[in-house]
Amino acid sequence: MPSPGQKLAKSGSGAWPRRRAIVAAIAALVLLPIEASDAGWLSDVFKGSSKPAKSPRHMASPKRATLAKPAAAPKLHTVKLAALGPFVLPASKPVATCDPAKFRIVLDVGHTAESEGAISARNVAEFAFNLRLAQRIEEKLKAEGFAETRLLVTGGKARPSLVRRVATANNLQANLLLSIHHDSVPDSFLENWEFEGKKSHFSDRFSGYSVFVSQDNPDFKTSLLFAELVAKEMQAQGLQYARQYTQPIMGRNQHPLLNKETGVYSYNKLIVLKSTRMPAVLLEAGSIINRDEELIMNSPERQNILASGVATAAKEFCDSRWAMLGPL
Ligand SMILES: [Zn+2]
Repeated sequence: MPSPGQKLAKSGSGAWPRRRAIVAAIAALVLLPIEASDAGWLSDVFKGSSKPAKSPRHMASPKRATLAKPAAAPKLHTVKLAALGPFVLPASKPVATCDPAKFRIVLDVGHTAESEGAISARNVAEFAFNLRLAQRIEEKLKAEGFAETRLLVTGGKARPSLVRRVATANNLQANLLLSIHHDSVPDSFLENWEFEGKKSHFSDRFSGYSVFVSQDNPDFKTSLLFAELVAKEMQAQGLQYARQYTQPIMGRNQHPLLNKETGVYSYNKLIVLKSTRMPAVLLEAGSIINRDEELIMNSPERQNILASGVATAAKEFCDSRWAMLGPL
């Protein structure tokens, strides 16, 4: 006994199945390279190690490079848009073209004047370090054409300020959020010393930058892409990442290392990373409880290096989003 499908084909009304097959074939042709390249990009991002200096743009496979060129398949453009539909686009709104003049980066200054975060070895509040570096980064980004860059300075107590900064970033409809912090250590590591006649605390045990992303962010994949770019720029400047976060001695401050080459960690519960509706990354620029590193972090030279690194990462991020999504 014939199946309904065979009957339909024999009766001469097989045009629809054929048309469906053609559409499916075109969709497959369009979709497969994107999905394949997407997976390749993700594994490249995770591996990272063999090509630390390359941006994802340069990691593009020949297939993806062809796909990303507007002239490569102009006839498929409409089909591609339809086929992309809900399958390929990331969770947050994609940026069709990354024009730095319209691309809004929010620089979140960690902590508040009232709740200042860590205290440095020389008794300076982390908030002051964060604000100064964020301002330097803002200047650099604007000089590079990111005119929509916004400095987000939040007031009030710690916990409510977290909710407010997330709400502000969401209301600003930012394309990207970068939260700026400086590192310290758990209290149990602190040692005593005297600075300018005042009993002070330090720990020279750890140093270095670190970059955090949350896997609970609605666009974790894109957050990770930017985190990798920032970390690679730090490395390109010869900076080392802070390695202690994988160690059990860090207790509840222990975090999984997503890329042991670049120093990108996951920190899923951080409100500013998980509750923002745009890709979000947190940069611990360096340790201010380490006496030598505090002096370095205080220098305009280091601040300029960090600011330039972030600006370069932002430019690469823009380019790679364009290459990744193609000319939509
Ligand atoms: Zn902090």
